Amino acid sequence: MAGDSDVPENNLFCVNCAKPANLQCPKCMNLKLPRAGSAFCSQECFKSSWSSHKSVHLKAKLSSPDTQNSGSLSEGWLYCLKSGQAWTPKLPYFDWTGSLRPSPISKKQIVPDHIDKPDWADDGIPKIEPNSVLQYTVEVKTPYQIERMRETCHIAREVLDAAARIIQPGVTTDEIDRVVHETTIAAGGYPSPLNYNFFPKSCCTSVNEVICHGIPDARKLEDGDIVNVDVSVYYKGVHADLNETYFVGNVDEESCQLVKCTYECLEKAISIVKPGVRFREIGEVISRHASMSGFSVARSYCGHGIGELFHCAPNIPHYARNKAVGVIKAGQTFTIEPMINAGVWRDRMWPDGWTDVTTDGKRSAQFEHTLLVTDTGVEVLTGRLQTSPNVFPWLNS
Ligand SMILES: [Zn+2]
Ligand SMILES: [Zn+2]
Repeated sequence: MAGDSDVPENNLFCVNCAKPANLQCPKCMNLKLPRAGSAFCSQECFKSSWSSHKSVHLKAKLSSPDTQNSGSLSEGWLYCLKSGQAWTPKLPYFDWTGSLRPSPISKKQIVPDHIDKPDWADDGIPKIEPNSVLQYTVEVKTPYQIERMRETCHIAREVLDAAARIIQPGVTTDEIDRVVHETTIAAGGYPSPLNYNFFPKSCCTSVNEVICHGIPDARKLEDGDIVNVDVSVYYKGVHADLNETYFVGNVDEESCQLVKCTYECLEKAISIVKPGVRFREIGEVISRHASMSGFSVARSYCGHGIGELFHCAPNIPHYARNKAVGVIKAGQTFTIEPMINAGVWRDRMWPDGWTDVTTDGKRSAQFEHTLLVTDTGVEVLTGRLQTSPNVFPWLNS
């Protein structure tokens, strides 16, 4: 294990990979949180743990007596996330990068008692996941784990397909969320994003310039939009995770190219997956294909291991010259989920603490699958079915 031969002077180890750590999360320092929980070995580890690490800040703010002057999360957002109540945003001052704005969010959905829930379902805080050794060792799944992952991934695919079928101009992303929520529960599953680090909805819906983690709200989809729906399901103790980007009505030529190119980036990445290939190769393949079309690769979010944990090792960057360590082995399960931008790769987070947008306001598309490495290649656990709706023109032969 990393760190047992060389204990660093400061005695701190990376929260993400357990290597000796010299960086501190600036937000944790502002909030005067314990140094051990906010140490990182590199910018890369810091960025890749951000989506789970930031719950530490939120937790600190929620338990602090005055949450008024506590950084970028506005009071209203804190209230909404904490209480699960519906909320209409008073738009805070923010240098919005494109034309999209937040709309009202409906109140938190109920999950019936008979559904088996992950440990964040009640209080918003994942407990097993951030402390697991699986954050820095890549698990090889047992046949029983694999069998359950196949089942859960099949359900998640059907849930995403149900969402895809209702997409058209005039439909709100909140209505998409309701379909995802109800279809997941009807299948006996729990929608993994619901209350994960206080995320208020059952899926992510990312419209136009949103790179990922958009919150379903009352905005009606407009003719010409693109919308990514990211679905994750927890069933029989394991998670599945997939997403697709859809066209709303008639979409301009550049956006069609962007979505098609992103689809191809994922296909090309999957085609190299087999035992012995380095994780860092995946980003090379994606980056090469995206830049051929003049597009860029978002860098702040990565593919991830998945199974009994929603997010774990390996961390799989989608960009070139990344420093991901390790070699692919049979029995591993992980996602690949490239986010490809029409303009620059840089991103910015909205004051809601979730919605990540392009800094130039240009569009971003994404596709994601959960994969199982086999002895000779890969099985796409969330692959399309005979019944999947025919929504991508390039799949018609
Ligand atoms: Zn996903
Ligand atoms: Zn994912």
